[in-house]
Amino acid sequence: MKALVFHGPGTKSWEEVPDPQLVDATDAVVRIDATTICGTDLHILKGDVPAVTDGRILGHEGVGTVLAVGSAVRNIAVGDRVIIACISSCGVCTYCRSGNPSHCLADEGAPGIGWILGHLIDGTQAEMVRIPFADNSLYKLPAGVPDDAAVLLSDIFPTGFEMGVRYGRVKPGDTVAVVGAGPVGLAVMATAGLYGAAQVIAIDLDQNRLELARTVGATHSVVSGTDAWKQQVMDLTDGFGVDVAVEAVGIPATFQMCVDLVRPGGTVANVGVHGKPVQLDLQDLWIKNIAITMGLVNTDTLGMLLKLVAQRKLPAEAFVTHRFALSDVESAYETFGDAASTKAIKVLMTG
Ligand code: NAD
Ligand code: ZN
Repeated sequence: MKALVFHGPGTKSWEEVPDPQLVDATDAVVRIDATTICGTDLHILKGDVPAVTDGRILGHEGVGTVLAVGSAVRNIAVGDRVIIACISSCGVCTYCRSGNPSHCLADEGAPGIGWILGHLIDGTQAEMVRIPFADNSLYKLPAGVPDDAAVLLSDIFPTGFEMGVRYGRVKPGDTVAVVGAGPVGLAVMATAGLYGAAQVIAIDLDQNRLELARTVGATHSVVSGTDAWKQQVMDLTDGFGVDVAVEAVGIPATFQMCVDLVRPGGTVANVGVHGKPVQLDLQDLWIKNIAITMGLVNTDTLGMLLKLVAQRKLPAEAFVTHRFALSDVESAYETFGDAASTKAIKVLMTG
């Protein structure tokens, strides 16, 4: 088959590799019908994720058709259309059972197995992929859910909902500010209403992304990078600050923006991946009684979010802005990597 293979920082190629095979009885092999590119793939390509080494197939989001299943697979059958969760987990270890499948202990105790760390399994930017623990890592797609919408459920929607809305402890009537209107921040905005947020304030430097934010769930938008941004947020909250501030960028400046705009007793939910240390002004956080939450996506809400997408209660399809053939993955990366000029949010590659 053909696949996009990582060859060290800055280098990748669409090349011939051996077809994936069933290895364990709990595996499935899936033909990729649609996949996409995540900001994390760009981090891996830059060399920011050392666990991903030369020869690894990239990608952790995908929708496909099951080609083969191992003898112990019970819930998934050959021919099923499925979503591939970006975290592949056993479902039975202590972490899986306590709602932390991103720390699954399977596979010789390596924590955090899965596409995101990438050290054990090949990815989805390929014609086919082997999925460990298929019963727990694949979700059958109901008829009528298009690939465009389904592929957002591999990573982006669970990340936004779990790490922004759920960890942020959004409650009915809350005002939620989301700093960063990339795919992840937009998914926070699209799901904040599930817990009853009354106001959802999108904050970004990019006007184009703020416009999209208003169509997927934001009630207000604020352009950052101006002197007025903080006052605009304060005006929307009677001067108190927001109940929940979600960091969906991954840089110290936007983390600080969240600390500045959260009200006393509120929550800063950090979703962004920082890569390096962020300074915390503990005095400031202490005096405001601020809770800070963070973590790696678990994808344990994927099934619930899928039901809502199937009922058209979540605008997942709105995120796909560009389409390519899977074999044209290099052009897809160029478009996605140059989002400032191409206005790309998610690029869909179909097999
Ligand atoms: P993205 O780069 O597409 O979007 C970031 C957005 O932030 C852009 O719209 C950009 O204009 C905006 N931005 C940049 N600087 C800003 C500033 N100073 N003020 C306001 N806005 C600013 O990223 P994404 O794909 O949406 O991902 C967001 C973050 O989530 C990344 O750090 C990513 O690595 C992380 N992530 C975390 C998890 C997890 O498990 N916690 C999973 C997936 C992604
Ligand atoms: Zn991702």
